Amino acid sequence: MQLSSPRLRATLLAAASLTLVAAVLPPPTPLGIGDPLFPELGNPGYDVLSYDLSFDYKDNLSPLDAVTVIDARALERLERINLDFTHGKVASAEVNGEPARFESVAEDLVLTPARPVADNMPLHITIRHTSDPRGRGDGGWVPTADGLAMANQADAAHRVFPCNDHPADKAFFTFRITAPAGLTAVANGESVVPAVRLGPTTTWTYRTRHPMATELAQVSVGRSEVVHGTGPHGLPLRDVVPAQDRRRLDPWLKKTAGHIEWMEERVGRYPFENYGVLIARATTGFELETQTLSLFESNLFAGDGYPDWYVESVMVHELAHQWFGDSVTPRTWSDLWLNEGHATWYEALYADGLGKYSLERRMREAYQRSDQWRAAGGPPAAPKAAAPGQKIGLFRPVVYDGSALILYALRQEIGTEAFERIERRWVAENRDGIAGTADFVRLASQEAGRDLAAFLEPWLYGATTPPMPGHPEWSGKASSGKAAADGSAR
Ligand SMILES: [Zn+2]
Repeated sequence: MQLSSPRLRATLLAAASLTLVAAVLPPPTPLGIGDPLFPELGNPGYDVLSYDLSFDYKDNLSPLDAVTVIDARALERLERINLDFTHGKVASAEVNGEPARFESVAEDLVLTPARPVADNMPLHITIRHTSDPRGRGDGGWVPTADGLAMANQADAAHRVFPCNDHPADKAFFTFRITAPAGLTAVANGESVVPAVRLGPTTTWTYRTRHPMATELAQVSVGRSEVVHGTGPHGLPLRDVVPAQDRRRLDPWLKKTAGHIEWMEERVGRYPFENYGVLIARATTGFELETQTLSLFESNLFAGDGYPDWYVESVMVHELAHQWFGDSVTPRTWSDLWLNEGHATWYEALYADGLGKYSLERRMREAYQRSDQWRAAGGPPAAPKAAAPGQKIGLFRPVVYDGSALILYALRQEIGTEAFERIERRWVAENRDGIAGTADFVRLASQEAGRDLAAFLEPWLYGATTPPMPGHPEWSGKASSGKAAADGSAR
């Protein structure tokens, strides 16, 4: 038989190649981009440009119905597309408008498109799935007294939605959240269209104006009040608080504008479209710098236990992350010290300015413990992996005060003026980008006018803490020898 119709021929050839692909491809395996601390996080072969996430929330005991739409570009010829995803059931997957096979392998969702995607071609992926909020204590959705919030750092975004779950692949986000009447939904970025009420539910839409790492996504659903204000140079402020606590929290919300002004004096313009705090009725044990909308436990502001200066310095810590960690994201998770060291630095500097806890005293105390912290957690720029199932385990003192100590040593070594130039250039030149430890050493060397690698490397990678410039009397041996207690992660 001779094939006369070109269309029919094309169809048959496509079917034949599909059979061939299915026959030749080995079983799907979980892939990663080789992060030293999370080898299977992220996936090779494509670059995500945007996520469009739709969530339909019912209550904290029911999986949310969700649709994840990913626009990406293939960086090589792809017969398979690995995404990171777990804690949800996949109903269907499409790649470039055609149904794709899907299988879950470990924490990867592996798609096999009907036909391979050529190098440099657009990838349009649609996945219909559920997203299970029922807490396993491993991050992702965080149940609150009145709904949900999100805490994806470091490796939990893929416990909420299918994604390329590594900060090295930033993308734009759109969120469409539907919730029953009486609840309010908020996400990172700006509200782009008015909320739409349809029968017993309302749908809210938010979009980020800057690229964002998956770990920094935030979706809040609750009996919330959204408080609008204005910060320096007209920056829109937007806080999300439990409606019943609004009056009590108001004095704290009013502090943010001053915090932003204080940070801008030191490092330059705030990098995003808006900012605010999300105060949740939840016990998380941490605060989190979700982009444009930092997550805080309401207990922090309860007025018992924490002095006011401490609460404010923690607010500044999360705010500082918007520059250090959010706008400039780490190349690998071993670069986490760049996030936490800087956020701790500005937290400590702010407390110093309030006259409550001097920077020098804090750094001296950190120096005394630094060798123990390094022994327990590894050196700042090569931390030990967290124990399985303990994502918080990565967030040890060595990446907080133990890493702020590196910045203090650098300032001691090159002087305050050069140090401040480094800080400003770091966030300006890497804005909306990714950067790692080697980039920081390079920039610091440029600003200091000499190669600082030999000076910084023992601080970054040494098993023990080098001598502190200008403080020959500081010693790590003076402490009691008892390991310092881990603080709450921030
Ligand atoms: Zn932090």
